[in-house]
Amino acid sequence: RKSDTVARLGGDEFVVMLQHLGTEVETAARKAQVVAEKVLARMVEPFDLGGSQHFSTTSIGVTPFGGAHTGAAEVSDLLTQADLAMYQAKGMGRNTVAFFDPEMQAAISASASMSADLRAALHAHGQIGVHYQPQFDLAQRVVGAEALARWQHPERGSVSPSEFIPIAEDTGLILPLGTWVMEESCRQLAAWGENPDTALLSISVNVSVRQFRHPEFVDLVMGVLARHGVQPHLLKLELTGSLLADRMEITLAKMGKLKQLGVTLSLDDFGTGYSSLAYLKLLPIDQLKIDKAFVADVLSDPSDAAIAHAIIGLAHSVGLTVIAEGVENEAQRHWLAERGCDLFQGFLLAQPMPVDEVNAFLKTHTAQRALQLA
Ligand code: C2E
Ligand code: MG
Ligand code: MG
Repeated sequence: RKSDTVARLGGDEFVVMLQHLGTEVETAARKAQVVAEKVLARMVEPFDLGGSQHFSTTSIGVTPFGGAHTGAAEVSDLLTQADLAMYQAKGMGRNTVAFFDPEMQAAISASASMSADLRAALHAHGQIGVHYQPQFDLAQRVVGAEALARWQHPERGSVSPSEFIPIAEDTGLILPLGTWVMEESCRQLAAWGENPDTALLSISVNVSVRQFRHPEFVDLVMGVLARHGVQPHLLKLELTGSLLADRMEITLAKMGKLKQLGVTLSLDDFGTGYSSLAYLKLLPIDQLKIDKAFVADVLSDPSDAAIAHAIIGLAHSVGLTVIAEGVENEAQRHWLAERGCDLFQGFLLAQPMPVDEVNAFLKTHTAQRALQLA
């Protein structure tokens, strides 16, 4: 990356400085690991020196600096730490990476075993599933559901997506995982399509940056839609704001292609991270999703309330609908509804549920509403 620095200290010693790895030690460790493995992969290739092939082994030691988690303050201390870790890597049999920081090493070992398990889970049957959390309009009608990946680990029990999705992203497993969730969701849309009571429901699928950036992503979506004979607008893709942080032209062009397919696009977790207001007008999106962090505090924190209110106004001013996620009580729902929020999702209204439970929920909910209206 442009922000990284490579230096040769002398002899066969090199230093690579990686910046902007985030604020959490686990994230920084995983990202450093990814880069270190790329370096290792290139260095095991033979070097052609005057027509004959030469092989070399590489050992990498990693130590964190900057941020809240600084190990050492002095450059010389940092280099000593990296050096110690590097000798440890040599001791582990070369062509490996070792971390000076025990917390980092622990995070890497945990994520390595988790990623091996995740890879196995994707091949095994039944461990990975999808839950659906209904989404409601102002009149409390269900308009659709969000598909949320679930992992039932044989020993760890249920693993939260906030734990395994980042690992899936780092290891590339997000591609088969994401494809699987999309496939399941479209299968479900097709099943709902058979019944007039559920034929208009949409399903929102979360798409991570790495999935979106894959050169064949648009083709993949097109293929899945066609395979299940689903009306494209019923598939809603939840994209994240971090897509807008760079390579804006490519992102815009790809969103445009997805819109041409007819799918619906929503911007998830809006208001957190990178949300450039200037781009909002350019993006071919249909919906903004107010992040649950703001929803949680609309009644207690005036600045979160102001942000949520502004997001609703902003969305409507450029012709987008707004959905609030993480609605946990009636007071929050009421506050948002008063200010024009269009759709609602959260524990107040319904939990994420396995498909059988969602279907049962839809039946009783529709019946109850009919009774109330009668
Ligand atoms: P998200 O897309 O923002 O999903 C909403 C999260 O809020 C879900 O967490 C949901 O269970 C939770 N939630 C729903 N209602 C409430 C509420 O009233 N209060 C609170 N506090 N939370 C609520 P979950 O299922 O743990 O998923 C976490 C994140 O993992 C998702 O955030 C999404 O970014 C990611 N994720 C889940 N499934 C997938 C997937 O198939 N693909 C990708 N790329 N990411 C996924
Ligand atoms: Mg989402
Ligand atoms: Mg969200």
